[in-house]
This record gives sequence, C-alpha cells and structure tokens, in this order.
Amino acid sequence: MTHFLPWQQAPARRWLAARERFAHAWLIHGLAGCGQMEFALAGAASLLCEAPRDGLACGECQACRWVQAGNHPDLRRIRSDAQAVREGAMDVAEDAKKQPSREIRIEQIRSLLPWFNTATHRGGWRVALLYPAESLNTIAANALLKILEEPPEHTVFLLAAQAPDRLLPTLVSRCRRLPLAVPPAAEAQAWLESQGVKDAAARLAVAGGAPLLALEQAREGRPVTPDWLELFLDQAGNGGDGAALADMLQAGEPADWVDGFQRLWLDLSLAAHGLPPRYHPGQAGRIMAIARKLDPAALARAADWLRSQRRLVNHPLNPKLLADHAARYLLQSVQPR
Ligand SMILES: [Zn+2]
Repeated sequence: MTHFLPWQQAPARRWLAARERFAHAWLIHGLAGCGQMEFALAGAASLLCEAPRDGLACGECQACRWVQAGNHPDLRRIRSDAQAVREGAMDVAEDAKKQPSREIRIEQIRSLLPWFNTATHRGGWRVALLYPAESLNTIAANALLKILEEPPEHTVFLLAAQAPDRLLPTLVSRCRRLPLAVPPAAEAQAWLESQGVKDAAARLAVAGGAPLLALEQAREGRPVTPDWLELFLDQAGNGGDGAALADMLQAGEPADWVDGFQRLWLDLSLAAHGLPPRYHPGQAGRIMAIARKLDPAALARAADWLRSQRRLVNHPLNPKLLADHAARYLLQSVQPR
C-alpha cells in the first residue's frame, strides 16, 4: 500500500509542502495501530513520484509503479525479519526452530553504504525507510547515527516508531519529529466500515482509537470483548478464585492482556466517578455495577501494579506465574468494600 490513509492526507500535504528544504531524517511516531509505517511508505512514494498530485504520489508514473512493485532503485526498506514475515515479504524458515529476528542488525545498515554512492534515477531523492525504529539494536542504531552525522546527499531517512522513548536519544536528536495524532473517531470508524469491519465503533473503542489495530483484531476473528475480559467481568465481585481466569490469560500474550487490563482499569475509574467507560462502552452496565462497590484505594494499587508489569511484559520471567498472580490479585482488587 503506497497511499496515505484518509486521516493522514491533510498532515501529509502539510509535511510534503516543504519538500524543497526537507530535513534529511524524520522520526514519524504515534500510537501503535494508527499507521506510522503506512505514512512513511506513502511519504517515500510521494517523494519519489515523478508527477505528484497536490504533493502526493500519483500512483501511475514509472516511479510509483516501481514503488508498488517493491523494486524502486532509490527506495530501501530496512526492517526486522519478524516484520518482513508479518508483511508476507519473507517466508518463515521450514525448520521453524528459530524465531525470525526482531532486530534490525548492523549488516542491514552497512548494506546501505554503497547505495549512497550510486546516482539516483533522474537525479531525484533517495529514501531509506526504517521500521519499526525500536527494533534497531544498539550497534545498528550507532551505525545509523554515524551516517546521520554526515548525511549522504539527496537522501531522506524515514524512521517509523511507536515509542520514541525506547530509541537511542542521540539518534532521536538527529531526526526531525513528525508526531501523528490518533485519527478522529468518525473518520476512523468510516474507514473501518469501508474495510468491511462489523461492529466498527465497538472495535475502535476497544483498540483505544487505533484503526489499524482494530482492523487486525477483526481480521484475526477475535471477539470484540476478549474471553478473559468477559470472564473477569462475570467473576468480579462474585467471589471467583481466579483459576479459570488464569488459564485464559496463560493462553494469551501477556502484553495483550496487561494492556487490556490497563484499559479496563481506566474504564473502572471513570465509572467510579460516574463517567461512561471509554474503551468498553458495550459493557457499561457491568462496569458501572462493579465500580459502585469497589474500594478506590485497592483499584489504584492495582493500577500501579499493572503499570509496573507493562514495563516488564515483553520479557516476563515466568508467564504462568504472572498469569496466576494477575488473575487472583486483579479479581481481589475489585472486591466490594
Ligand atoms: Zn507518481
């Protein structure tokens, strides 16, 4: 896909309008699932297009066709193997013993060096697309930093990221920042519906307003409200011991359900203040009923605990222990006073 998503077109036009005095490195960042990678790719296409329309790629010229086919000589995509597999650009190894690497490695950065010395097609731009930028390991990030300190001519680096705070600060300081906002709900919902998603409004709410995340969850056939959340809402305040919930959590990804609990916790604290839930409007009745009886101090302590787990969750020491503890502790935290 080399087009900007509908909510990206206005910011993209403003960004590309200054292309004559363009910065040579951009950090395009925003909430996961709002389309930073798509923005960066469409940005690359627009910079390379030979006949841009109103600043954006025409989709028809030779350069646009090359970008679509993935073989424009002046465009390089640098991504982790895991990302390439996700995009279907790379097969998982037959003897899938080894997980595809989640890192961008130094060889990938070094492989760009000869490319900087070749002439560009019709003397235009050269665009290096790196994403997700968080997957640059330290050595690769330092190699990129060296390049950005003496940037090659006619070259633009587009880095797409969700969490700039996880990047090397010196690298971030070499880039102009381009923050992308969460799209307006109405626009995101209309787009999801145009992609054939049912329950678009509810899915969008559960995904925290991130339309690409909502689309992915719909395409994976996930229920709007995850099973573990249904069970939690049923058992909260009803004396559930957490065993069944722990089994469900164990079957999922800790990063997913810790995020999910953080959103539910926000809904519970809104409800405790008499406000409607933001992420789970479809569950308002049950959430209100739980919130009316709970102890705000216990809710706040559990919110702190969830925050501390969120930082560790990509490398849990023992996922089974984490699931067991979370199920018991979180159910306990919403017991009636
Ligand atoms: Zn074009």
